[in-house]
Amino acid sequence: MTEAPFSLLTHEVANQPPPLEGINWFEQDRVLLDAVAREGGAWGKDRLSNFGAWLGQAATIRLGEQANRYPPTLRTHDRFGHRIDEVEFHPAWHELLGRALAEQVHALPWTDPRPGAHVVRAAAAFLLNQVESGVCCPIAMTFAAPAALRDAPVLAEAWLPKLLSASYDPGSRPAADKAGVLVGMAMTEKQGGSDLRANTTRARALGDGAYELVGHKWFCSAPQSDAFLTLAQTGAGLSCFLAPRWRPDGSRNAISIQRLKDKLGNRSNASAEIEYAGALAWLVGEEGHGLRTILKMVHHTRLDAAISSAALMRQALAQALHHAAHRTAFGRRLIDQPLMRNVLADLALEVEGAAALVIRLARAFDESGQDEGARGFARLATAIAKYWVCKRAPGTIAEALECLGGNGYVEESVLPRLYREAPVNSIWEGAGNIVCLDVLRALTREPDSIEAVLGELQSARGADLRLDARLMRLSNALADQSNLEHRARQLVEQLALALQASILVRHAPTAVADAFCASRLSDNPDRQFGVLPSGLDLAAICARAQPTLA
Ligand SMILES: Cc1cc2nc3c(=O)[nH]c(=O)nc-3n(C[C@H](O)[C@H](O)[C@H](O)COP(=O)(O)OP(=O)(O)OC[C@H]3O[C@@H](n4cnc5c(N)ncnc54)[C@H](O)[C@@H]3O)c2cc1C
Repeated sequence: MTEAPFSLLTHEVANQPPPLEGINWFEQDRVLLDAVAREGGAWGKDRLSNFGAWLGQAATIRLGEQANRYPPTLRTHDRFGHRIDEVEFHPAWHELLGRALAEQVHALPWTDPRPGAHVVRAAAAFLLNQVESGVCCPIAMTFAAPAALRDAPVLAEAWLPKLLSASYDPGSRPAADKAGVLVGMAMTEKQGGSDLRANTTRARALGDGAYELVGHKWFCSAPQSDAFLTLAQTGAGLSCFLAPRWRPDGSRNAISIQRLKDKLGNRSNASAEIEYAGALAWLVGEEGHGLRTILKMVHHTRLDAAISSAALMRQALAQALHHAAHRTAFGRRLIDQPLMRNVLADLALEVEGAAALVIRLARAFDESGQDEGARGFARLATAIAKYWVCKRAPGTIAEALECLGGNGYVEESVLPRLYREAPVNSIWEGAGNIVCLDVLRALTREPDSIEAVLGELQSARGADLRLDARLMRLSNALADQSNLEHRARQLVEQLALALQASILVRHAPTAVADAFCASRLSDNPDRQFGVLPSGLDLAAICARAQPTLA
C-alpha cells in the first residue's frame, strides 16, 4: 500500500465554524421578533419569516457578495455615439432589488396602511440590509418619495401607482411604458450638501407647472431611477421638482450622468454626478418652499438610515457570536472565555438598543397619521436615532470583525463589507452634526416633539434607579440654554441612550436591561466594548442574541 504524499496531510480543516447559511434571519432574531410583536407588527410575522428564510439561503447570500464584487458601470454613449447615460448592474443586483420590491419594502405602509405597516416594513428593511445594503438605497428613496409627492396631487396621481407597484422594471423607458418605477433624490451640489440653500441649480418656468432645470448635482444615488426629487432655485427661492428621466413625448430628458463615484463602501449601488441641461421638471409643493417639501422625504430616509445601521450591526454581531461559538483557543470555545464574553455581550447590548429603538420609531410613523403625540415623537426620535444608531455602527462592526480575528478581515466573511458600508448612513440624509443641529431646531421650534419624547421617557420612570437619575440629569441639560450648539452631540447622545434604556427596562429581559443601564447610563460611559462591570448575566445576553443553525 502506498502512503498519501506527506504534504497533503496539511489540508485537514479544523477549528473553523460552519457557514452561517440556510437559516431564517427573522426567526433567528429574538430581539427583532419581540420588537415586531410589541410594536404592532404581529400580523406580518409570516411574510417576514418567508423573507427571512429567503435571505438566509446560501444562494441569496451569494447574490449579496456578487452585487458588491461586480459593481455597476456607467455607459454614457451607445456604439454610435448617442448619449444614453445608462448604468449596468450585475444580475445579482436586479434579483435582490426585484425581490425587495415584490416584498413591498419600498411601499407597504402606503399600499396597506393598517396599524403596524411601518413596523413590518422596517423589519423587512432590517432583514434585507443584513444581506445587501446597496439595494436599500433606491428602496429607501422610493419608499420616502410619496411623502413629498403628496404635495403635488396631480403628479402623485400619475406617478404613485407605478412607484408603489411591486413589479421591478429596470428598463430605461418612459415611465408610462413601465410596470414599476424607482425615484431618487438630488439635493447635494459641489459647493455644499448640508447648506442646501446654497444650491445653484436654476429652474425656469415653462407654464402649466412645468419648468426647465439647468445645473448639477454632486451626489445622486441610484441615477438609473425613473425620476428625481430635485431642488432648484426659482425667483421665489429654493423649490422642489420632479425631474423624469424620460419626457412624456418619449425622448430622453436632458439629464446626463457625468461619472459614478468610486466609493469607500455601498459599492453595489451607483452614486453619480449628474447635470441638468434644460431638463424638464414639474414643481412639487409651493414655489420657494422646496426645503419644507423635500424634508418630508428626508424624514423617511432618515428612518431608513437608522434601520440600516442597526441591521449592519446585527449582522456583524451574528457573525461574531457564530464564530465564537465554534472556534476554540487555549482549550475553550471563544464564547466561553470571560473576556470574549464581555465583548460579545457588550456588542449584543448595543444591537438590542439599536434594534428596539428603530422598530419603536417605526411604530411612531404608523401612528403619526392619527396621533399628534406620535407625530411629535417621530419628528424628534427620527433625528435622535439617525444620529446615534448610525454613529455607533462603524465602531460596533469593527469590534465584531475583530472577534473573528484574521478571518474577519477577509472579504468572504462579509465583515469587511459591513464595515465599509457603515459610515455612509451617518453622512447621507444629514451628516452627524447637521442632525444634531436639527434636534436643537426641533427643541426650540417644535416643543410638541420634545414633550412627546419626554412623555415616553417618563413612562419608564421607577423601573431602574440609574435611568431615573439619568432622566434627572437630562432634564437639567435640556433646561440649560447655554452653549447649545457646542453641546448638541452630548444632548442627543443622552436623549438616545435614555430612549433606548426606557424601551429596554420596560420590555427586554432583565439581564439585558440591567446590563444596558449599568454600562450606558453613567456620567462617564466606558469607551471600548468589553468593559462591562462584573455581576451581570452575560451568558443570558449572549444566548439571546446567538444565531443557531437549524
Ligand atoms: C455614497 C453617498 C451617496 C449619496 N447620495 C446622495 C443622493 O442620492 N442625493 C443627494 O442629494 N445627496 C447624496 N449624498 C450626499 C450627502 O447627502 C452629503 O454628502 C451630505 O449631506 C453632506 O453634505 P456635504 O458632502 O456637502 O458636506 P458639507 O455640507 O460640506 O459638510 C461637511 C461636514 O461639516 C459638517 N457641518 C456642516 N455644517 C455644519 C455646521 N453648521 N456646524 C457643524 N458642522 C457642520 C457636516 O456635519 C459634515 O460633517 C450622498 C453621499 C454619499 C457619501
